[in-house]
Amino acid sequence: MTRFSGKSVIVTGSSNGIGRATAVLFARYGAQVTITGRDAERLEVTKQKMLKAGSLPENINVVVADLTDSEGQDRIVQSTLDKFGKIDVLVNNAGASIFDGTMNTDQSIDLYERIFRLNFQAVVEMVKKTKEHLIKTRGEIVNVSSTVAGPQALPMAPYYASSKAALNQYTRCVAIDLIQYGVRVNSVSPGLVSSGFMGAIGMSKEIQEKFESFMESKKECIPGGVIGKPEDIAKLIVFLSDRKRSSYIIGQSIVADGGSTLVSGMHAHDLKDILGL
Ligand code: NDP
Repeated sequence: MTRFSGKSVIVTGSSNGIGRATAVLFARYGAQVTITGRDAERLEVTKQKMLKAGSLPENINVVVADLTDSEGQDRIVQSTLDKFGKIDVLVNNAGASIFDGTMNTDQSIDLYERIFRLNFQAVVEMVKKTKEHLIKTRGEIVNVSSTVAGPQALPMAPYYASSKAALNQYTRCVAIDLIQYGVRVNSVSPGLVSSGFMGAIGMSKEIQEKFESFMESKKECIPGGVIGKPEDIAKLIVFLSDRKRSSYIIGQSIVADGGSTLVSGMHAHDLKDILGL
């Protein structure tokens, strides 16, 4: 028996990055896992990593689906029930900062709708579609938010930041509603993590590396000096999915960001140097 033996877990957005690392960690702990995303080849990579981590082939359910599509959501839920008979954990991880070349208040309403559809509405829909099954198992929901939810502003991508702020408040509201039925809801708020996120908005590998090494080198960006790995966030998601280890945490968003959000711009500079003290 391992930590999640006999538990049925759905991890959305598990064809890459944080979701993939989370699916692999659940596999290592013996869970039955539904992995899902739009890209079948990337899902196959995740599956192979899960097998390497010790998963039995029958404990992996692969669903190619667009999460912004109601029919895709239904297939994720129904195939999990058909294969594993129940749902114990829902990880709402899929998300993106969709980029169409515009920034700030120039971003269109069409972009606003696409961003909210994926990062917020799809989570709401997945919660509604799994709720009765999670109540039966007294299960867990973990949402993947972001430190861009605030209180600091992200003026260049206001809709992405606002979609995550909405997700944080939704997490709190649903946590109180569902705990009366024994279902626990929390979220994680990653800071900068090296994943497919930048590639998904069209950044080349080279520019991504340049961006990441700049961020790592500036103590006011990432005080810890190291950019996050998907595995850093996966460990937190698995912790919040484990009732034995985190039962008293309800409706929270736990930050994992190498200290980034602790830095205020006012205190980010070396005042000794500037003021000649
Ligand atoms: P990745 O781009 O590596 O992974 C995103 C995942 O979401 C992929 O598996 C992708 O699958 C899936 N996805 C995107 N759009 C859809 C869709 N329409 N339907 C189904 N699946 C979709 O990024 P991360 O791992 O970094 O992102 C995971 C979560 O972490 C997101 O919610 C993101 O907002 C959040 N986050 C990331 C941070 C970072 O710095 N990386 C920081 C803070 C939060 P596919 O392309 O196959 O559809």
